Amino acid sequence: MLYFNKPYLTGNEIKYIQEAIIKQTSGNGFFTNKCHQYFQEKYGFKKVLLTTSCTDALEMAAILINIHPGDEVIIPSYTYVSTANPFVLRGAKIVFADSSPNHPNIDVDSIELLISPRTKALVIVHYAGMACNMDKLNKIVEKYNIFLIEDAAQAINSYYKNRPLGTFGNLSCFSFHETKNITSGEGGLLVINDEKLLKRAEIIWDKGTTRASFLRGEIDKYTWVDVGSSYSPSEMIAAFLLAQLESLMDIQKRRNYLWEKYYCNLQSYSNNDSFGLPQIPKYATHNAHIFYITCKNASTRNNLIHFLKEKNIQASFHYLSLHKSKFYSERHDCRILVNADFYTNCLLRLPLYIELTDQEINFVTDSIIEYYSLSN
Ligand SMILES: *Cc1c(COP(=O)(O)O)cnc(C)c1O
Repeated sequence: MLYFNKPYLTGNEIKYIQEAIIKQTSGNGFFTNKCHQYFQEKYGFKKVLLTTSCTDALEMAAILINIHPGDEVIIPSYTYVSTANPFVLRGAKIVFADSSPNHPNIDVDSIELLISPRTKALVIVHYAGMACNMDKLNKIVEKYNIFLIEDAAQAINSYYKNRPLGTFGNLSCFSFHETKNITSGEGGLLVINDEKLLKRAEIIWDKGTTRASFLRGEIDKYTWVDVGSSYSPSEMIAAFLLAQLESLMDIQKRRNYLWEKYYCNLQSYSNNDSFGLPQIPKYATHNAHIFYITCKNASTRNNLIHFLKEKNIQASFHYLSLHKSKFYSERHDCRILVNADFYTNCLLRLPLYIELTDQEINFVTDSIIEYYSLSN
């Protein structure tokens, strides 16, 4: 069976976890600091905090920007539920934006029409680690004075005009879930780029207390000063993540190679009558998180999934747009989001993980080409 995803282990995970067990098992210790240092030095993030998931990092973001009932938050509909849930939890009304016609990312040109006096924040997703158009987005959030949050769950080591994703939002959130390029099983990261949110972030992270300053020896006892929760992961998780971070560049090199191979193999077969390939804007340097094709309609896509399955290849559709979900459809304002619907129905993800061989990729692409030659 050619699996859709296989998490990659670098070999040092168990060793570091053993060290964590001896040193300190609860959070905010040696390994957490090592990971923090790595992210700050490599990507120039002003301040970072490891979290137990990207979902939790987004929850922290919603608390930090003071989301209240009555606030509106603009979010692309074609995304994972965790982009929206943290804001719904705090009472916000979600205004769903469409995807762009040529990419699952938010349609930047549709955003201004969605802004109202109640709009507090814009949350963007860099789908497949492919950057959104940050120059245009920055102009919009500056003009209307709203917060920009990057759901960069899929975007570690991706760039916009050579600047790392995660450095644009007031706050940005990454995921280290098993399905992402690097993983700690479950895990996440909150990046705080906005000076004004720095101090409070650390307090919310540690149960609404000043414990982090206490641990640094800045104060002689700590106390409850704000709302907060338990967002800091155990040292075993951070130890796992550190092992992955040390191999990040090798992981990226291999993923990029495999992604390019898919692209080259399929390029001459892609056209308006068959299937589409990912379009990479000039400004984006992506991290090969996902390789997808777009089929013409849902039935061709679903038949292709079945065809590949018969050949023991696992290929997978992706999001069911959130505005059509059971939970949110009755709250949605009835606008039709044509492009989000298109990606819901037509996008197909192919297997992509370090262990894949050239032969396996050839087998997948040959099978896709065979499917289209049979259906013509
Ligand atoms: C994976 C993912 C999340 C959730 O990440 P967790 O770490 O599992 O909470 C959120 N948003 C997007 C776009 C994702 O791909």
